[in-house]
Amino acid sequence: MSHKYDVIIVGGGAAGLYAALQLRGRRILLIEKKLQPGMKMMVSGSGKCNLTHAGPIQDFYDHYGDNKRFVKQALAVHTNEAVERYFETLGISCYHREDGKVFPKGESAKAVVKTMVSALGATPETEVVSGVAVKRILEVKDESEGRFMVETSQDAYRSDYVVLATGGRSYPALGAEGDGYALAQALGNIPYRGNIK
Ligand SMILES: Cc1cc2nc3c(=O)[nH]c(=O)nc-3n(C[C@H](O)[C@H](O)[C@H](O)COP(=O)(O)OP(=O)(O)OC[C@H]3O[C@@H](n4cnc5c(N)ncnc54)[C@H](O)[C@@H]3O)c2cc1C
Repeated sequence: MSHKYDVIIVGGGAAGLYAALQLRGRRILLIEKKLQPGMKMMVSGSGKCNLTHAGPIQDFYDHYGDNKRFVKQALAVHTNEAVERYFETLGISCYHREDGKVFPKGESAKAVVKTMVSALGATPETEVVSGVAVKRILEVKDESEGRFMVETSQDAYRSDYVVLATGGRSYPALGAEGDGYALAQALGNIPYRGNIK
């Protein structure tokens, strides 16, 4: 049996958790393969959680090399200042270091992850499944139950949109094993249908 969602987010790291929070109001399923979401975030900034960088957003673009054009669209609509403002709404105030790095005043990555996970838990339309890896994503012909089928070893889910937030291949012990590359490659070059409505 499959279950239908507006958006399925694959991966509950920094990107997946943040995306889920931004999409509150939609029917969301976040699938995280580790037992707990945000494990890699917990070691970020030496455990203090370097949340973003200060300065004009235009200064960020050149740090992305060939991907500059791709990230520019996202960064321009949700800037570093918007990120700080959003964390403030969760009760997390930030400070700017002299080198431009932005940290939460509490300097605790664990507390940031806990706050994000609690905020998701308080959202009735959002479900989080942990300890289960996504094995396959398919685009299905009959879209009446959603355009995508997302399969784990235990279940299959349907959704209109998928956010692939599995991170890179940088820290296998914390979940960053590079699954996203294979999932995206298997899905192929499918047409983009615009922003989540
Ligand atoms: C030691 C260290 C220090 C760092 N310090 C900083 C810092 O100070 N500031 C900063 O901005 N960045 C820092 N980084 C980088 C930061 O960790 C990454 O930028 C960030 O974690 C990327 O977030 P992400 O959500 O894209 O990926 P991740 O955090 O890697 O999250 C991806 C998630 O997807 C899950 N996943 C993977 N495959 C599947 C699957 N098949 N099914 C379901 N779930 C899956 C993983 O378990 C993981 O939880 C640091 C990294 C390290 C290793």
